[in-house]
Amino acid sequence: MSTPEKHEFQAEIAQLLNIVIHSLYTDKEIFIRELISNAADASEKLKFLQTSGTEIFEPERPLAITVHTDEEAKTITIADSGIGMTHAELIENLGTIAHSGSKAFLEQIKQTAAAKGGTGAAEIIGQFGVGFYSAFMVASKVSVHTRSYQPAESGWSWTSDGVSSYEIEPAADLPRGTKIVIQLTEADQEYANAHRVESVIKRYSNFVGAPIELNGTAVNTINAIWTRGKSEVTDTEYEEFYKFIGHDIDAPLYRLHFSADAPIDIKALLFVPKHSREKLGMPKTESEVHLYCRKILIQSKSKGLFPEWLRFLKGVVDSEDLPLNISRETMQDSALMQKLNKVLSTKFLKFLDEEAKGDAEKYAEFFKEFGHFLKEGIVSDYTHREALAKLLRYETSASETPAAIADYVSRMPEEQKDIYFISGSSREACLASPYYEGLQAKNYEVLFLFDPWDEFVMDHLQEFDGKKLIAAEKAEIALDKAESKLDDDAARLLCNFIKESLGDKVDEVGISSRLVDSPAVVVESDKHMTSSMRRILKNLNRGEANPFKQNLEINPAHPMMAGLEAARQTNPELAKQVAEQVFDNALISAGLLEDPNAMLKRINSLLEQLVAK
Ligand code: ADP
Ligand code: MG
Repeated sequence: MSTPEKHEFQAEIAQLLNIVIHSLYTDKEIFIRELISNAADASEKLKFLQTSGTEIFEPERPLAITVHTDEEAKTITIADSGIGMTHAELIENLGTIAHSGSKAFLEQIKQTAAAKGGTGAAEIIGQFGVGFYSAFMVASKVSVHTRSYQPAESGWSWTSDGVSSYEIEPAADLPRGTKIVIQLTEADQEYANAHRVESVIKRYSNFVGAPIELNGTAVNTINAIWTRGKSEVTDTEYEEFYKFIGHDIDAPLYRLHFSADAPIDIKALLFVPKHSREKLGMPKTESEVHLYCRKILIQSKSKGLFPEWLRFLKGVVDSEDLPLNISRETMQDSALMQKLNKVLSTKFLKFLDEEAKGDAEKYAEFFKEFGHFLKEGIVSDYTHREALAKLLRYETSASETPAAIADYVSRMPEEQKDIYFISGSSREACLASPYYEGLQAKNYEVLFLFDPWDEFVMDHLQEFDGKKLIAAEKAEIALDKAESKLDDDAARLLCNFIKESLGDKVDEVGISSRLVDSPAVVVESDKHMTSSMRRILKNLNRGEANPFKQNLEINPAHPMMAGLEAARQTNPELAKQVAEQVFDNALISAGLLEDPNAMLKRINSLLEQLVAK
């Protein structure tokens, strides 16, 4: 028998191995992912050769990845029937630094070392897969038995303890492909345990294209359906896949399956669940979109892949442009991630827009569950504001079915310049609001906002389609004042009287040109404030006084105002009480009355005077 040839590792590989073996590695289990990923690559490559008509050794041998654990022998073996390696390839691939992943790793180490003045390796090693060499994290010895697909080649065994050298010797009768036997160190016996290994395979390699068998049993039962064409996947397959990765018992509400090559390679399969868990009162959802590179998991629940407000999405994103074994921790901030984020969220919003147009009823269901997230997007993220605004739906004075703002705009009469909205707890409350009267009289449609946070949404949007979004109470509309029951002087004197009666409670008292049925209305004196914002602020800082005052606007056409003007002269005491009550009534209709007790006392006194007559 010939003695094995001995080879020294290239200096950089020796350095790399030294780091891999001697640095504390928190994620040791990923060596399984790395070896399976190599086996999957080798299988894919063989598949490609098959389709291109190349002559192949053992053409009938099926493509499979097999894993064997042996607790007695303390080994784990990972084998494939892929392209295998020739003698030259063994030296090139496993003895030099020519290939991508490990090279990038070493460069990163050098940079970190230069920046920190030390080796810096321990800090970043956890961010890399370092491919094949990661096996040495758990191995005292690694043997690679391999036979190339090329018919004229023969088999070889490569062995190393990962220190400085490796040996190669001929191996007869090997089947096509590569078998890697890992002799585990005393400390890493867990990887000879089938359960432990199964959980690692399921975690990282569940969707690998070739079947993976562990000790004779198939473990990756689920297909990577996102890599197939839309027409090749059935609804049932989609649904089962969703239920599996989404941990859901219901079918999804929406699914988006697409692929793109530019500006970046993406295959994505995204789902919107039927229900929002946050809406049910569960804590903040974590994004459940997993990031893959060629069917190998890179990061589960990937952070940064989507903006925060799309955290309700579930699914898979696969990009071949991702380096498989690079920088998992810092990936979140990488330019690549930002590019993915932009492409994915833009695509998803476009999808929603199309869905909304295609099936409004289904979209309404979506909006009920997830509208809040879109609003969060408008308030927190400038990037997609316009696209998000198109997706909002509101009831309006003209439409009981929630409508898009664009629909509202399409109905605007020519002379109407702005878009109006009003906040209230219900449709009835909005219709009864004194702020609605003037707009109704003008025949202007008004958006009804039932969610208190909608006003913040409006505040962030400012405009839609070039038209300003204006709170009804800030609307500058002038109705004809022909029916005024008071002349200008009398009205001004009445305003002064009411201001005197109310004192500090009110900022200014003026004449309204937009009231029809209500005697008076409160209007925020600050131009950024609205009554519903005041309500929210009041709830937020309970008890604390609000620095902004309100104005009171009176309706000179209302009979009560004519009566009050008369009473001001004949019975100032009664007139003062009525003025106070008018103000309180206006506060009630704005939902802002603080102390009903003082008001009740006054009403009782007024009633007493009424019946005493
Ligand atoms: P990478 O996969 O990033 O290239 P690795 O360190 O994981 O880096 O693998 C180094 C090289 O060794 C691979 O590029 C491949 O050419 C070769 N190789 C590793 N495992 C196998 C295998 N099971 N079958 C064939 N070639 C392999
Ligand atoms: Mg690899």
